[in-house]
Amino acid sequence: MAKKRTLQRWSADDAAELYGVHNWGAGYFDISPDGDVLVRPFGRKNPVAVSIMDIIRGMRDRGLNMPVLLRIENILDTQIALLHDSFRKAVKTLGYRGDYRGVFPIKVNQQQQVVEAVARFGTNFHHGMEVGSKAELFAALSQLRDEEACLICNGYKDEEFIELGLHAVRLGFLCFFVVEMPSELPLILECAERTGVKPLIGVRAKLACQAGGHWTASGSDHSTFGLTTTQIVDAVDLLREKDMLDSFRLLHFHLGSQLSNIRDIRDAAMEASRVYAGLVKEGAPMGFLDLGGGLAVDYDGSRTNFISSRNYSLDEYCTDMVEAVMSIMDESGIHHPVLITESGRATVAYYSILLFNVLDVSRIADQGSTLETTEETVLPDDAAESTRNLLQTLQGINLRNLQESYNDAVYYRDDIRRQFLQGKAGLRERTVAERLFWAIINRIAREKGKLPHIPKDLTEIDLALADIYYGNFSVFQSLPDAWAIGQLFPVMPVHRLTEEPTRQAILSDITCDSDGRIDHFIDAGQGVKNTLDLHVLKENEEYYLGVFLVGAYQETLGDLHNLLGDTNVVSVRVGEDGSFEFVRELRGDSVADILSYVEYDPRRILERLRKAAEKAVRDGRIQPAERLLTMQAFEDGLRGYTYFER
Ligand SMILES: *Cc1c(COP(=O)(O)O)cnc(C)c1O
Repeated sequence: MAKKRTLQRWSADDAAELYGVHNWGAGYFDISPDGDVLVRPFGRKNPVAVSIMDIIRGMRDRGLNMPVLLRIENILDTQIALLHDSFRKAVKTLGYRGDYRGVFPIKVNQQQQVVEAVARFGTNFHHGMEVGSKAELFAALSQLRDEEACLICNGYKDEEFIELGLHAVRLGFLCFFVVEMPSELPLILECAERTGVKPLIGVRAKLACQAGGHWTASGSDHSTFGLTTTQIVDAVDLLREKDMLDSFRLLHFHLGSQLSNIRDIRDAAMEASRVYAGLVKEGAPMGFLDLGGGLAVDYDGSRTNFISSRNYSLDEYCTDMVEAVMSIMDESGIHHPVLITESGRATVAYYSILLFNVLDVSRIADQGSTLETTEETVLPDDAAESTRNLLQTLQGINLRNLQESYNDAVYYRDDIRRQFLQGKAGLRERTVAERLFWAIINRIAREKGKLPHIPKDLTEIDLALADIYYGNFSVFQSLPDAWAIGQLFPVMPVHRLTEEPTRQAILSDITCDSDGRIDHFIDAGQGVKNTLDLHVLKENEEYYLGVFLVGAYQETLGDLHNLLGDTNVVSVRVGEDGSFEFVRELRGDSVADILSYVEYDPRRILERLRKAAEKAVRDGRIQPAERLLTMQAFEDGLRGYTYFER
């Protein structure tokens, strides 16, 4: 709820607190004294900042319409550097005698721009890639240029996948096959023998340790991938039999994504270390221990083990991982392995922001506002009994009877609705009753704040009274996890933050699906709330909202609900002096693009429309010159953006 400040003016600091920017922003986001959201692309320690509104103005001038997915390239660089710095620090402090290598799991964001950016900046740290399919392998091979970077092949592999990987080894890539299914190993050995290329083999361990959360089924005993310890020992025996045990180089596990509780990850790292030590004792050379993904993002800023958060910092994660592995290796008298992690979410989440404008607002509560002060409202003589009772209820509201008034209002309103269904009350009658009902609810909403203890029914009134803000975007296309698994993302206006937001709202997208909405919001580190504080729209001025931390998993899970397509994408790079450059832009799908995805041929659509237009000319409904205009409109329409354009 917006703070009631009568004496002091609402300031950018109040907004920062309300929206929790400093809790979830990880130092990348802030609010300027004049009320715009700022991006700090180099993180906390560097004062360089760019206003998102300046970037939006730049987009507007270039004709890039909302919605836009904005990528701040430097944030990706900063995140990769942070990950490596943290691991280096932990390695140094603890005296770990192995290297750290990060890899980027391509599935988290496969877009070429993203993979290219990771590969380019990653060379500073030998940051590699993790792939789970043949197509992802090609994506990685096309971008990776660093022979010391690891290329990890996970996922179910057929013969072709394996051969492609072996060719990559031939070209000098440090390419590991991670055996996910027992049946893959004989296939790898067969291909290796045929091609004469020596493979680097790893196995994925199915651990007994589990973690809680949405995404963690992949870590449990029933996980679809990975080898049990029995199967791992069988693999050792097979490799030894084929005289290939010297190819066994890596152990991998992946517990799941967004692991909120550090204990889960630590326990898994310990168990995996034991398996690793066992393999070394079996005579496998090993050398690499891959701790998988799971490093979580604190979406709500609460720093808890809540699913949208994490109860640890990056430094703690790195220290815990290094310490866990080291303690077991030392105990077993084993060389410290190269540590690999496959952090995807934490690497890319921060760097993309979905921006959209608000098209309209529906204010449910306003239905009663005209009646609120008119307690002397005179009802027509033939008004129904229940309508009269509603008026009486409105006139009789006081602090002691709020709950009772609420119950009465619902009862009488429902009665009128029933009568309407039975044909006993007319449309006007029902409208008068509905207005009175909302007038009562509005009054209760205002009065209830004065109560020491608010009954549950009455707290829910706020949600019923929430405005609906219609945003120019599609939840299904741009925020699939918000729809599918109810994931929380920080949402807030990116400007006007020195004005107090006075409305409580939920967000609707422009699909006509009732699921196309956002009605769960982060509550400044205190959990979840059902409405978002927003400003009243201004005449002739756009109102821009941003959904933050959307760089991981959202882009390729999206679907074409209502045939709303990919949004425009703009990549910005910020200089050390705070200037910024539009380094790349991708136009979103046109209407024709989208139609062709679902098997229409835009040329044939035009052909049909041309025939229909010609027939209209023949039938005398339009003139040939009008046919020209109509056809131009259709052609422009097919070329146009799939979202709302002003
Ligand atoms: C998805 C996945 C990852 C990425 O996990 P994050 O939690 O996003 O870091 C890493 N490794 C494997 C094998 C995966 O399937």
